Amino acid sequence: MKIAILSRNAKLYSTRRLAEAAKERGHEVHVFDHLRCYMNITSMRPSIHYKGVKLEGFDAVIPRIGASVTFYGTAVLRQFEMMGVFPLNESVAISRSRDKLRSVQLLARKGIGLPVTGFARSPDDIDDLLNSVGGNKFVIKLLEGTQGIGVVLAENKKAAESVIEAFLGLNANILVQEFIEEAGGADIRCFVVDGKVVAAMKRQGKEGEFRSNLHRGGSAELVRITPEERSTAVRAANIMGLNVAGVDLMRSNHGPVVMEVNSSPGLEGIEKATGKDIAAMVISFIEKRAAVGRTTTRGKG
Ligand code: ADP
Repeated sequence: MKIAILSRNAKLYSTRRLAEAAKERGHEVHVFDHLRCYMNITSMRPSIHYKGVKLEGFDAVIPRIGASVTFYGTAVLRQFEMMGVFPLNESVAISRSRDKLRSVQLLARKGIGLPVTGFARSPDDIDDLLNSVGGNKFVIKLLEGTQGIGVVLAENKKAAESVIEAFLGLNANILVQEFIEEAGGADIRCFVVDGKVVAAMKRQGKEGEFRSNLHRGGSAELVRITPEERSTAVRAANIMGLNVAGVDLMRSNHGPVVMEVNSSPGLEGIEKATGKDIAAMVISFIEKRAAVGRTTTRGKG
């Protein structure tokens, strides 16, 4: 097969591993910086160009689109889809998962466990919103944040009110969540490929840090997950319409709750923590599923 990888940097661990795995399995691989792909949207003849060359003959495309360039990156991916190229994850599913509010709304509709979450715009509604979320401690999240930046823990209601007022004053959209204190600063990353959890790791925030993101200095180790956690992760990926996803769960005292469904999960942490060849599993999924005309839009919303 001829496979395109959309990535800003061919040297990044995940990009490198996916390219290696595809080559080992006998495929032709090209890495394109999606910000350098440009398109011609002529009726019936959609095309993509890269540094003066028209891209042709691709069977599959692997998007590795960073959150800061979601709009342009998904537009390029969509153009591949319009040309009948099979996307590892579809552009609509990626856009859906990048919106934290839309994600929790879709997951809640299907009964997936979530931290109690509130959303409001007017400072006048903050008091009632905090009462409805409940508890004394709150997590406040910027809708546009990633890698734990823009996620704040407020230790009491007064602190939560001030932080929310400050964010709203800056015209930022924020979510307010119950603080899952019992998780002890740990979460579980479930790596889902084609409806199965193929690997899972527990991430623990560094001393004194409630955020477990590896980018924030957290550490990772292999973990055994329960059948309930496994099915929650698989269902969450499915609801978002993602073939490949990193589903982050926390162990709350009301069962597993989903924090986030990541559409471009990194391979480095999970391959190193579990010793598994996840890149090969991803390529093997593409071999099974990529066929011209198999581009469909799954999920709703
Ligand atoms: P990002 O997309 O920026 O990583 P997340 O929503 O995943 O944002 O939050 C970052 C980290 O903060 C999570 O991995 C988790 O460790 C911690 N966290 C987020 N929300 C809560 C919560 N409601 N209760 C406890 N910890 C939380």
